[in-house]
Amino acid sequence: MIDAAELVRFLEGQLPEALELLRQMVGINSFTGNRAGVNRVGDFTAECFAPLGFVAERVPSANPAWGDHLVLRRPGRSGRSVALVSHLDTVFPPEEEARNQFHWRVEGNRIYGPGAHDDKGGTVMIWLVLQALRRLAPTVFDELAWRLFCNASEEALAADFGEVCRRRLDAGTLAALVFEAEGRRGGERFMVVARKGSATWRLTVAGRGAHAGAKHQHGANAIVQLAQTISQIAALTDYSRGLTFNVGTVSGGGSHNRVPHEAVAEGEFRAFSPEVYAQAKAALLALAGPGQVRSLTDGYACQARVDILSESRPWPRNPATDRLLAVWQKAGAELGMAVGAEERGGLSDGNLLWDAVPTLDGLGPWGDHDHCSERSADGSKLPEYVEVSGFVPKAALNAMAICKLLEGTG
Ligand SMILES: [Zn+2]
Repeated sequence: MIDAAELVRFLEGQLPEALELLRQMVGINSFTGNRAGVNRVGDFTAECFAPLGFVAERVPSANPAWGDHLVLRRPGRSGRSVALVSHLDTVFPPEEEARNQFHWRVEGNRIYGPGAHDDKGGTVMIWLVLQALRRLAPTVFDELAWRLFCNASEEALAADFGEVCRRRLDAGTLAALVFEAEGRRGGERFMVVARKGSATWRLTVAGRGAHAGAKHQHGANAIVQLAQTISQIAALTDYSRGLTFNVGTVSGGGSHNRVPHEAVAEGEFRAFSPEVYAQAKAALLALAGPGQVRSLTDGYACQARVDILSESRPWPRNPATDRLLAVWQKAGAELGMAVGAEERGGLSDGNLLWDAVPTLDGLGPWGDHDHCSERSADGSKLPEYVEVSGFVPKAALNAMAICKLLEGTG
């Protein structure tokens, strides 16, 4: 077992090099839609891990407009392996970075910059953990087969990355560890043990157009039907079951003198539990079909159609994840760190992996204001930053926990 004081001392010595890697990653714009930039971050990441013995494979995204997913591997002596997960892309287009002068900027204990926290900080955290294990726990480092999965399009919620990982996970995989942002309250750090699933949907109502003066009764008003149906959708929200529906946009109709023949609404829903999610989806789809709004002349009814546009399944709280949490809590106790658990509304790659292998998330560093690039003079708006002093303790926690994980499996 690693000596805690030695571990912290070693990591402190590694921090300047880690921050230099982070500086270079943050300096490359890797907005999801910037294919070349994402690939450059992928290449740079592969270079960072090559000295640790990792070999790179690039897997094209399902969407050809996006960059390649990066898979790094290092073989192990035992049949057991650990998957480490991060992402290459950010939400910031290059024009936005330039407009808001949002670049690498060190201020006291904070480093501001696009992706400094989400999730280039997570990738650098992985590098620190592996450096420490190689030096201070070489047996653990060499026993385990390592897989490092970097998503090229995490921020766009593309699902193809899930398959990329799942096809490369073997039966001996002990855990998928997701290096997204840490949760923190006071001195307590929170690992992420569940995330909501979400789906986006479109409701299209077809009515029957008619002259609003001469043939009003012949018409079947699509907007009136849409209004009724979206009220029914909104009513599906059930906070007591962690289920929310949001009607996000509406459009329809042509001009004042026409009974509108079409109207469209789009939105999303989210839930933690797979059962609640499935029931919600069924209830939404059941709203398709003939509506209550009809023409008075012949009973012609408006028709509602519901399409699911995209889906990310929920990651519910589950025993395999809780067993991993317990390992991190034990490691925390040894290091004098309080470690708790958090269920998050937002999605991560954990949603794509939890039902294939035991999954734990939130292994990344602490920071704040993710997905924000603006800074106001009065300080009421601040952009994304990562906390410098949080790297070493969290890397120590992760390294210690991985040692315990391997011990626990004998
Ligand atoms: Zn992220």
